[in-house]
Amino acid sequence: MVKILKCSYCGKDINPGTGMTFVKANGEIFQFCTKKCRKMKLQFKKPARKVRWTQYYGQK
Ligand SMILES: [Zn+2]
Repeated sequence: MVKILKCSYCGKDINPGTGMTFVKANGEIFQFCTKKCRKMKLQFKKPARKVRWTQYYGQK
């Protein structure tokens, strides 16, 4: 059985074989569906709930 991972940023499912894993120095693991999500999270540090195309948009 294939485990479906969800993107740590936008919350969408990541198709098996795609996406990327990022491990922070403190051992925290992120899964990203695209480079765009990785950039938003790690570079711009923009909260997902303020980004319209994420599943968290509008949440508190
Ligand atoms: Zn994503």
